[in-house]
Amino acid sequence: MFEGTRADLAAHTTLRLGGPAGRLVTLRDRDEVVQSVREAGTGPPLLLLAGGSNVVIGDNGFPGTVALLRTAGVLFEAGSDPDDVLVTVEAGQPWDDVVALAVTEGLAGIECLSGIPGSAGATPIQNVGAYGQEVAETITSVLVYDRADDRTRDLASAECHFGYRTSRFKHSERFIVLAVTFRLRRSTVAAPARYAELARALDIPTGGRASLAEVRAAVLELRAAKGMVLDPADPDTFSVGSFFMNPVLEAEAFATLLARARDCAGAEPAAWPSPDGTTKISAAWLIEHAGFGKGYAGGHAGVSVSTKHTLALTNRGAGTTAELLALAREIVEGVEKAFGVRLRPEPVLVNCSL
Ligand SMILES: Cc1cc2nc3c(=O)[nH]c(=O)nc-3n(C[C@H](O)[C@H](O)[C@H](O)COP(=O)(O)OP(=O)(O)OC[C@H]3O[C@@H](n4cnc5c(N)ncnc54)[C@H](O)[C@@H]3O)c2cc1C
Repeated sequence: MFEGTRADLAAHTTLRLGGPAGRLVTLRDRDEVVQSVREAGTGPPLLLLAGGSNVVIGDNGFPGTVALLRTAGVLFEAGSDPDDVLVTVEAGQPWDDVVALAVTEGLAGIECLSGIPGSAGATPIQNVGAYGQEVAETITSVLVYDRADDRTRDLASAECHFGYRTSRFKHSERFIVLAVTFRLRRSTVAAPARYAELARALDIPTGGRASLAEVRAAVLELRAAKGMVLDPADPDTFSVGSFFMNPVLEAEAFATLLARARDCAGAEPAAWPSPDGTTKISAAWLIEHAGFGKGYAGGHAGVSVSTKHTLALTNRGAGTTAELLALAREIVEGVEKAFGVRLRPEPVLVNCSL
């Protein structure tokens, strides 16, 4: 375990925000992770940080120990079906390296998740997803350290309670993800492109198929155009990706929203119906049509809506968490006033609140 000094957590988050850590340690293998979490059970609080791409940390930082998860390793094993390969990834392994490796090895199932920042171990936490794919579809099990029972456990996918951008791990301190196992399929072509925007970029019909490499390249290009691939030269990427989740509405609430949207905006939001009768609405559409367009900063110096995507709130370089949250609050209130829908934040808020 590497023990650091008091450090500014801004250096460890993609928002480049967050005050000092009481103590900073770097964890390089599973034993160090378990030991450090065990110690925290009796000592000062612990914040586990991997890529820092889905956290908003208050300007006062975190008074306890911040543990940087830097475990690494990828293991390939044959699956029960000859076309299946089980890929077990250590939690600290950067996620996009895993996707790139899978594509190179001709393994399908996670190619649409190219370019998402952060670690493999964080992917089950909010059931990471993009372009019609989410990790819940390929995760077979998650190896965790269970703080409540003080033991490591292998949780089967069904025990992870995956949902839209959530799982039993999100907003819970109980489980530390040590490794994740994915079942990928040997294939030269990717799964059918379910997402219309991706299909268009690939010049195939929705539901059509392209090679794994073509899908990865198209996804990376689409994401980069929206500031959704990290780039140290581009402040539009100093974000947590989508700051708000797409709201999921029951039938009645959806009908009310449509009527309101036609009245207010003369148009309807992009919407994705589910078999359970609920409908997911584009939060980006609501934000834009409530008056918060690309680049909107209001009176908040140092932060703004991304100039490429209305769902991303960005630090322009000299912002603070307080300013970012003030902007987020203004957007939540504005959208609720215009459309009667309350947006909920996607990232984990640490020592701060909306
Ligand atoms: C530009 C950009 C684009 C993005 N695009 C997408 C997208 O398309 N789809 C999407 O779903 N997300 C997206 N995200 C969000 C983010 O990348 C993912 O949620 C990612 O999985 C977070 O990983 P991380 O390692 O950075 O987690 P961190 O930010 O380090 O941690 C997030 C939370 O998980 C906890 N945590 C981290 N690792 C573990 C572990 N091993 N065990 C237990 N708890 C843990 C932390 O304590 C914290 O509460 C984007 C973010 C950015 C900045």
